[in-house]
Amino acid sequence: MSTEPTKILLSEDEMPRQWYNIQADLPSPMPPPVGLDGNPIGPDALAKVFPMNLIEQEVSTERWIDIPEEILGILKLWRPSPLYRARRLEAALGTPAKIYYKNEGVSPAGSHKPNTAVAQAWYNREFGIKYLTTETGAGQWGSALAMSCKLIGIECKVFMVRISFDQKPFRKIMMNTWGAECIPSPSPLTAVGRRILEEDPDTPGSLGIAISEAIEQAVERDDTRYALGSVLNHVMLHQTIIGLEARKQFDKIGRYPDIVIGCAGGGSNFAGISFPFLYDKIHGKDVQVIATEPEACPTLTRAPYAYDSGDVAMMTPLLPMHSLGHTFIPPAIHAGGLRYHGMAPLVSHTKQLGLIEATALPQTECYEAALLFAHTEGFIPAPETSHAIAQTIREAKQAKEEGKEKVILMNWSGHGLMDLQGYDAYMSGKISDYPLPEELLQRSIAASLEGHPPVPGC
Ligand SMILES: *Cc1c(COP(=O)(O)O)cnc(C)c1O
Repeated sequence: MSTEPTKILLSEDEMPRQWYNIQADLPSPMPPPVGLDGNPIGPDALAKVFPMNLIEQEVSTERWIDIPEEILGILKLWRPSPLYRARRLEAALGTPAKIYYKNEGVSPAGSHKPNTAVAQAWYNREFGIKYLTTETGAGQWGSALAMSCKLIGIECKVFMVRISFDQKPFRKIMMNTWGAECIPSPSPLTAVGRRILEEDPDTPGSLGIAISEAIEQAVERDDTRYALGSVLNHVMLHQTIIGLEARKQFDKIGRYPDIVIGCAGGGSNFAGISFPFLYDKIHGKDVQVIATEPEACPTLTRAPYAYDSGDVAMMTPLLPMHSLGHTFIPPAIHAGGLRYHGMAPLVSHTKQLGLIEATALPQTECYEAALLFAHTEGFIPAPETSHAIAQTIREAKQAKEEGKEKVILMNWSGHGLMDLQGYDAYMSGKISDYPLPEELLQRSIAASLEGHPPVPGC
């Protein structure tokens, strides 16, 4: 009976030609971004930070948005990405569940991030921008944008969170190889960087700080804008190509997932795999959708839903989102891409609406899951991705207990070949669990959210 292939492939002709915008289908609209006075900010307030064509996408409520031909052409260098049936993992677990993973690790930068990086570089170039600044945590976003800027033909400067800059020198070399400049953050190049270095010269840095530095440099010049690798609506939009492909791939084998799982840092790969399935759910389909995060940085599971800034220096408007507080410096766990204090407003909103669930997992369980995956399926996952794998394994074990043939889809957001130090630390017993202490969470929230207007309806 088992004629189903291990890899379910689409031809390039079958690649989706439009992105899906969930803003068209939300049962209640998202609260708008606001200023500190609580008044909604207009598109013009963002014009020095982002090009207007991306700001238009940010606020669009059109359901389908055409993917420009040149972007499709570049995405075809690695897309459509394969959907794998993880038979060997299923066998090791002895589960009746059918496990599928969408392999976004096949992109040149090794993760899902080029899906939006290519699009953002293209829209900036179309708008006349010559230079993009950005931040990067573990380095995946910086390398994705570096590659994309080179392919599109503009310049790129990356502020990399200090601790990752030190832990992951190869990511920096990748960025340099694709022609970008990579600077450890906080840096003496910006006012915010100098202030933070004065207060704490040994700071490990944070994404919030690096974002402040990148925005500060972008707004100084007319030919320069800033690019964000996650969190914003247009980033979620560009990533929906993942779930749209997966839906077509499931059509090919005549199946549909019971459970869709993604790890969540800023929320983009999770949104990418899940929003097209949430479209079905909003229209009556029964599908369970789970976002998984580290227990050291439990944004969706423990942080309040509030108006907060995306960065330390409060250069972004206040966004309605689950937030650990914009002053939060996350513990130095190895899943650097999951160390952000906030969560995409769209993902936060779908959580508020009860469309998705969230779980927080300990680091050691995730590494254990990553090793089992590598031992059965071969591929070594990114530490971020291992959270999705660990949640998938939990669901597969539950399906076994209940004797149910559940179909599980997870997003395999990236490979871990640049993250081997974390594996080394785990295998030599140096990794321990760190559930975020409640007292630290409360202190960060008190220091960060004070005086912010309440989100309407909350
Ligand atoms: C950046 C990254 C993440 C987390 O970012 P999201 O915006 O939440 O997707 C997860 N996995 C990998 C491999 C990443 O590079």
